[in-house]
Amino acid sequence: MKSLCNKILLAFLILFAGIKVYALDVVYPTSYNMNINAPSTFFVGNTNPEEILTINGVKIDVHPSGAFAQKVPLNIGKNVFTITSDWNKKVYTINRKAILSVSYNNSNPMNNFKKFDKEKFVYVKKDGTALRSTPVEQGINRLSHLEKDVILKVDGEMYGLYRVVLSENNYAWINKKAVYENVINEEPETAKLIAKSFTQSNHSKFYKIKLTQRIPYYVEESNPLVLHLFNTDGSETVFPINLKHNLSGYDAYYEGDCLVLEIKKKLNVYRFRPLRDITIVIDPGHGGNEKGAVSCLRNYEKDINLKIALYLYKELSRKGANVYMTRFTDEFVSLNDRVKFSNEKNADIFISIHANSLPDGKDPMKERGTSVYYYYNESKPLAESILNNIVNKVHTNNDGLYQRSFAVVRNSRALSVLVETAYVINPYDNILLINEKFQKNCAKAISNGVIEYLKSIQIN
Ligand SMILES: [Zn+2]
Repeated sequence: MKSLCNKILLAFLILFAGIKVYALDVVYPTSYNMNINAPSTFFVGNTNPEEILTINGVKIDVHPSGAFAQKVPLNIGKNVFTITSDWNKKVYTINRKAILSVSYNNSNPMNNFKKFDKEKFVYVKKDGTALRSTPVEQGINRLSHLEKDVILKVDGEMYGLYRVVLSENNYAWINKKAVYENVINEEPETAKLIAKSFTQSNHSKFYKIKLTQRIPYYVEESNPLVLHLFNTDGSETVFPINLKHNLSGYDAYYEGDCLVLEIKKKLNVYRFRPLRDITIVIDPGHGGNEKGAVSCLRNYEKDINLKIALYLYKELSRKGANVYMTRFTDEFVSLNDRVKFSNEKNADIFISIHANSLPDGKDPMKERGTSVYYYYNESKPLAESILNNIVNKVHTNNDGLYQRSFAVVRNSRALSVLVETAYVINPYDNILLINEKFQKNCAKAISNGVIEYLKSIQIN
């Protein structure tokens, strides 16, 4: 009855008194009934900052912009949350499942390994399949990305991955689903080396090894750079290549039965115009139907990323770099196409721009600031320079420098980094991210980070 009276009063105020009434906009959780299997979740959204906001009767802090983010604990089973502002009331039911006990033997993980009676040979199904150093289907444990039809000897399985026998006591792992099984029962012929050759373009040197079939390989990032090649009979061949400069990107791949090791040439950096002749691809994350993270104030990450990227595009172009964007407008571009574009443009540097969010279980009021990610070690100094410039000049919180396996930084041949400028679901960061001055300063700091890095490797 009371709520009916409130509604009538509210309608009266809107119609006759002209009072501005704010809706209570809950951005997350995204529906009134959800299953969340974490010890906590959070309410993120916006309301009139002058109204009192409560969750289950407890008053919640609201940022002057109206944004709020409140962590709430979850019990096993049904959790009911009533969120109210002066004129609104919403009820959320969140179910947290009991944790199923996992029966892995953790004392010695290899107790979970099932060895086959007999080794078997399988073929890789698709290009870009990860060959891993540990039986974990994620993270930075990739030894290489194998192409379709590479032949592998496997001798057992664990956690859904086959153990690949590269050479004696040298193993790798591959997802069971990534290979064709039982294709060969007989011992296959060993691959033969037909010819070795060397060519070069303006951007890269190509070391080519022509074989009779595709066999597994990986590249050891060191100086000399070492290409390891493993034959079906368990023999290993190594091709060391002396580097006369810091690595600025490499790739190994099959063209037919020819294994190509492409090494990018050193960057030509001029003292007074460090960006001259440097090709940079800027990648504004997400776009189109893929909105990315949604902020407290319901801004989309894809729009914030594009704005910062466009300022960065202007800044780097003005200073003389050849700059390309994976998208200039609000459109969907697949991760693969972003990487392909960067490789087609022979990018020296690839910068992906994002804004951060958090999974359930974290506290969006406690996480703030900028983090920068890289995958290959040669990209780390660039990532570090960009992070330092942002936190020192724009004064965001330093949220860290990380080596992570993001597809865009992993597959591009350029020096590649991914910048998480700030957190969209933190009210304080949210207000910065939608501020034009912040976006411009952030772009400027990234550009300065690139320039500082280039100066550090300057040779001319
Ligand atoms: Zn993103």
